[in-house]
Amino acid sequence: MREFDYRRADDVTGAVALLGADPDARYLGGGTNLVDLMKTGVERPARLVDVRSLPLDRIEPAADGGLRIGATVTNSDLAAHPVVRERYPALTQAVLAGASGQLRNMATVGGNLLQRTRCGYFADVTKPCNKRAPGSGCPAVGGEHRNHAVLGASEHCVAVHPSDMGVALTAFDATVAYETTDGPGELPLADFYLPVGDTPHRETALPPGALITYVTLPPARLAARSRYRKVRERASYAFAIGSVAAALEVSDGVVCDARLAFGAVASRPWRARLAERVLTGAPATAEYFAAAADAELAAARPLPGNGYKVTLLRNLVVAVLSELAEEATR
Ligand SMILES: Cc1cc2nc3c(=O)[nH]c(=O)nc-3n(C[C@H](O)[C@H](O)[C@H](O)COP(=O)(O)OP(=O)(O)OC[C@H]3O[C@@H](n4cnc5c(N)ncnc54)[C@H](O)[C@@H]3O)c2cc1C
Ligand code: SF4
Repeated sequence: MREFDYRRADDVTGAVALLGADPDARYLGGGTNLVDLMKTGVERPARLVDVRSLPLDRIEPAADGGLRIGATVTNSDLAAHPVVRERYPALTQAVLAGASGQLRNMATVGGNLLQRTRCGYFADVTKPCNKRAPGSGCPAVGGEHRNHAVLGASEHCVAVHPSDMGVALTAFDATVAYETTDGPGELPLADFYLPVGDTPHRETALPPGALITYVTLPPARLAARSRYRKVRERASYAFAIGSVAAALEVSDGVVCDARLAFGAVASRPWRARLAERVLTGAPATAEYFAAAADAELAAARPLPGNGYKVTLLRNLVVAVLSELAEEATR
């Protein structure tokens, strides 16, 4: 076993100071991802700064009428929160579709957004992997890539981001607030994850040593009629092979507003803005829902083993939007 230093922080300033800009230090949330990666040698931190005692475990109304979610709120508490259930049901559904009850009781909001990919080559330190060992190659492109990306990938990495929660947060325009030794900052979730390009090891736009403090959700009337649908290879305790978070506002049979994001198809939760533009002002029918999916998925570049994801996503979009449209007319 490799030795490491363990510290528990009691306040945000102290946590940020304890971590500093040390590239070998990591914040410890629930540990459900980080500790697993330490056991396999993918992560080898010299110091852990435990953030679970920080006063970031509350969900509160935001000044603009939205919601401010502390970074150490557990996945279980987030899913169960009455305001989340009522105003952002797709978020509750997304969180409950992830992992297991025990894991959700431990896992935090900040940790969920920063969890690492489940690519098998990334997890195996005996294999090359550009994300884990920059410049070593990407064996997934010519190897096992059934669960890998069809959108926004590059020849350097085709891994997908595994978070379910992040997909719903992306659809609802969440913002991530963070603290550093130089002060606080904010990033819209849309800009939080970096494009893959030739630097797949650089995953987020967070400055070095940044501690995620809050995730804020703006008020969104249409989010109250929203849905998350996840497809996976077994009914529970499995990561998505494709997922959709959607919200729809319909008036007189026409779409007035729409939110759509895809999961498990890209290195980040994928906001389907092109599809949203096609939907807005269009008749709320399966034909137009399919056209919107096709517009977004025209950019898909599947590998030989994962073309099924394009069809899967298209069908998911049509099914979920049709259900939401039907509910809107009741
Ligand atoms: C068997 C299994 C099945 C799973 N299935 C799913 C699934 O279907 N869907 C899904 O979405 N997830 C799934 N997960 C992943 C799980 O949701 C994540 O492991 C969890 O959300 C990570 O949260 P954590 O608090 O435990 O993070 P940790 O493991 O503590 O940390 C993860 C990363 O985030 C960093 N970090 C943590 N908190 C902060 C902070 N506040 N600021 C800055 N950095 C921080 C850590 O340094 C680390 O790099 C599964 C996990 C397991 C083990
Ligand atoms: S897809 Fe990305 S994470 Fe997987 S082996 Fe290639 S570089 Fe590594």
